[in-house]
Amino acid sequence: MYNYKEEKAQTSRVCEHPGCREPAEHRAPKSRSERPDYYWFCLDHVREYNKEWNYFNGMSEDEVERFQRDAPLGHRPTWKHQMDPGMQESILRSKLNAFLGGKSSGSESYTKPVPRRLEKALRKLELEHPASMKQVKSTYKKLVKQYHPDVNGGDTAAEDRFKAIVDAYQLLTEQYGDYAGHE
Ligand SMILES: [Zn+2]
Repeated sequence: MYNYKEEKAQTSRVCEHPGCREPAEHRAPKSRSERPDYYWFCLDHVREYNKEWNYFNGMSEDEVERFQRDAPLGHRPTWKHQMDPGMQESILRSKLNAFLGGKSSGSESYTKPVPRRLEKALRKLELEHPASMKQVKSTYKKLVKQYHPDVNGGDTAAEDRFKAIVDAYQLLTEQYGDYAGHE
């Protein structure tokens, strides 16, 4: 039998702002990636969050709304700012982490922008900057197993993926140490 109350309790979200217990009906992107993850907030906290976000992105209210609406479709918003994107992202992250009471990925003390080639290598391992070297290693181990030619019966796409993962990991072990996040 259909139980509305139970269904509702299972799917309702609580605002992710520390200490807040309001129902969260509004989402906000965690980062500026093309397929962002979202935080869920109550109305008050999504407004605060958007204010921080706007300030550090130089985006208008409209642009943020459009971004939140279109991002899942892969639309890339127009960013109007001069600063180095890596630097901007790290400032934005530390601001947003502060807003969230220092939760999320533990990257709040992070300020060093990462070179594009390393950022790309991270993405090949399905990670985002700043990842820790430990995360890089464990994700690598998982992915090489998954895409290993022996378990994919000559699937060339998996083989290409496997090579890309090995190359990315090699680059990261050589060059990412200085940029990596802490545990
Ligand atoms: Zn809230």
